[in-house]
Amino acid sequence: MEILKCKELTKTYGTGENAVHALDHVNFRADSGEFIAIVGASGSGKSTLLHLIGGVDSPTSGQVIIDGTDIVGMPERKLSVFRRRKVGLIYQFYNLIPTMNVLENIMLPMRLDGRLPEKEELAELTDTLGLTDRLRAYPGELSGGQQQRVAIARSLIYRPAILLADEPTGNLDRKNSEETMALFRLCNQKYNQTILLITHDENAALQAGRIITIEDGKLMKDEVTDR
Ligand code: ADP
Ligand code: ADP
Repeated sequence: MEILKCKELTKTYGTGENAVHALDHVNFRADSGEFIAIVGASGSGKSTLLHLIGGVDSPTSGQVIIDGTDIVGMPERKLSVFRRRKVGLIYQFYNLIPTMNVLENIMLPMRLDGRLPEKEELAELTDTLGLTDRLRAYPGELSGGQQQRVAIARSLIYRPAILLADEPTGNLDRKNSEETMALFRLCNQKYNQTILLITHDENAALQAGRIITIEDGKLMKDEVTDR
């Protein structure tokens, strides 16, 4: 089933002489349950692509169709609800709220909707992520690997159809990187979540079933791996 389609997706920052063509008419589609690595040199437009798919930035032109709905031009209030439920975003530097404890950070997407997670589901999630003992701790008291697991738990609270990860292992040591990748495989295999992962790590990219290469804002290659 098609879960995502980017059509002629284009993003230009600035105007005139200062214009930066970060993305240039990018087209691709993804089915539910695909695990896609996005690779390319620094500055090629990978983060921009993820931000547009995640609805945190809007394209100059083109469409982002998620589960049949074009999110471009969606009113902000509707978009913020849509993106919290359908798309999870994970960053290299976690983006946790330092004044909230682990549990509060994880529940944040639901609290913003005035909801609470089901007790059992929450327990399963924190257990899977090895956070059950640290729910009252604050981000500053956690290791990098733990902080990234909190960010992943937060992005999973709604079991979104799509997970977008921007160099999630970029700041982690090898052990934590491997654990993080194992979590993504679990999300992909157990919950059939579609994963788009930006990475500079070849080993991480090879765990994906498909590798998309971006160069100078253009989709240059779209290859199936033999995973
Ligand atoms: P990557 O993730 O591949 O490193 P980015 O998507 O971050 O690439 O950036 C693509 C290009 O767009 C780069 O030239 C970058 O400097 C530029 N860019 C990204 N975000 C902005 C912004 N908010 N304002 C101006 N230029 C930007
Ligand atoms: P990454 O590519 O690892 O996500 P960057 O350092 O490229 O991180 O970008 C971090 C943030 O700064 C992003 O939100 C991006 O949109 C913004 N950004 C990147 N390049 C520029 C730029 N030239 N001008 C303004 N903002 C930028």
